[in-house]
Amino acid sequence: MGRALIIGAGGVANVAIRKCCQNSEVFEEIMIASRTKAKCDAIQGAMEGKTKTKIETAEIDADDVLRLTKLIQDYNPGVVLNLALPYQDLHIMDACLAAGVPYVDTANYEPEDTAHFEYSWQWAYNDRYREAGLTALLGSGFDPGVTSVFAAYALKHEFDEINYIDILDCNAGDHGYPFATNFNPEINIREVSAKGSFWEDGRWVETEPLEIKRVYNFPEIGQKDMYLLHHEEIESLALHMPGIKRIRFFMTFGESYLTHLRCLENVGMTSIKPILFEGKEIVPLQFLKAVLPDPASLGPRTKGKTNIGCIFRGKKDGKEKTYYLYNVCDHQECFKETGSQAVAYTTGVPAMIGASLILNGTWKLYGTHTIEEFDPDPFMEELNRFGLPWQESHAPELVD
Ligand code: NDP
Repeated sequence: MGRALIIGAGGVANVAIRKCCQNSEVFEEIMIASRTKAKCDAIQGAMEGKTKTKIETAEIDADDVLRLTKLIQDYNPGVVLNLALPYQDLHIMDACLAAGVPYVDTANYEPEDTAHFEYSWQWAYNDRYREAGLTALLGSGFDPGVTSVFAAYALKHEFDEINYIDILDCNAGDHGYPFATNFNPEINIREVSAKGSFWEDGRWVETEPLEIKRVYNFPEIGQKDMYLLHHEEIESLALHMPGIKRIRFFMTFGESYLTHLRCLENVGMTSIKPILFEGKEIVPLQFLKAVLPDPASLGPRTKGKTNIGCIFRGKKDGKEKTYYLYNVCDHQECFKETGSQAVAYTTGVPAMIGASLILNGTWKLYGTHTIEEFDPDPFMEELNRFGLPWQESHAPELVD
């Protein structure tokens, strides 16, 4: 049916590409283009003889908008799936606009020199995408991504209005290292060490980093400590959920992870301000990334499960109602299937699904739109089909 250009060849791309190859009716041809071509070739090699999807590879620096535009024009895909880093989002959006091709990503833009992310930079492309008759689908990972699809689904099928959303992200995987991050360490540490925030009564409430802690008993996992973080889907859900009063996002962290993180912060290793080292400028956080275990190497070692989902409270037919939608994913099973652990898996599968719905024409909404603005039903069906089945509860434990 179509052709996709996938940018990036890291942990998430590895899963998304394998899932495209399981969905060859939609992804007849793909090109994997990234900074290090050898990584693209390795994924292509792993798929040889195992799929009907025809795979090509290319070297590209996605920050070189002219070269990227030319690559997109030459390959002429039906969609570009951006699985590089958030720093590249705007450059890839520029190139898609110039080449006239729809755009999909999993994380919102973040300038490299400011640990701050928000949608405003990408929403500023709305008019240009709309006038060009192009869809830009923002945030098609798990969170953001599936969590927002869950919200759209809950609103469509379970509620007249949703007043409270708690997004709970639990990773109970154990990789056996004293300290490692499950995806790109630079992005992960920037997110966790930033101030927290939540949305309440029409405004942001800011907290100190990891100031708010709760304990939750996760289905299939058990009791875990979780902390309130700022997270990007709060910003768009606050606009798109009628009647919303509060949205919070919690992520679980173990005591060992937090102790290491505090220590690294205290000695300045998580700073993104460049320093001079032996006459050369280095960014401490980038140096830290270079000495930490590569997230891709955690796959074979990680055991346990993830549970990510949303608890909704609102009204149906005038009555108060609660509803919990979640997915449980097993690290070892993900690794057996794709060679990556569950964090990459839970992001790569929805990235493929979002791109497939754009590529096959099911989702078409000109302009730049976050995922809850689209019909959730086809996406929810594909989650069950491609390895992320969802579960529901009408009487969940609530977070106070
Ligand atoms: P990785 O660091 O493993 O992979 C990033 C890939 O992008 C690498 O192959 C890298 O190339 C490539 N890349 C970086 N810069 C450029 C550039 N200028 N031009 C071309 N390619 C480039 O990251 P992950 O796979 O873990 O994450 C991918 C994305 O997914 C990130 O944006 C992350 O924020 C997002 N994410 C979203 C989640 C969600 O639920 N929504 C959860 C987890 C991640 P090289 O190999 O040369 O370094």
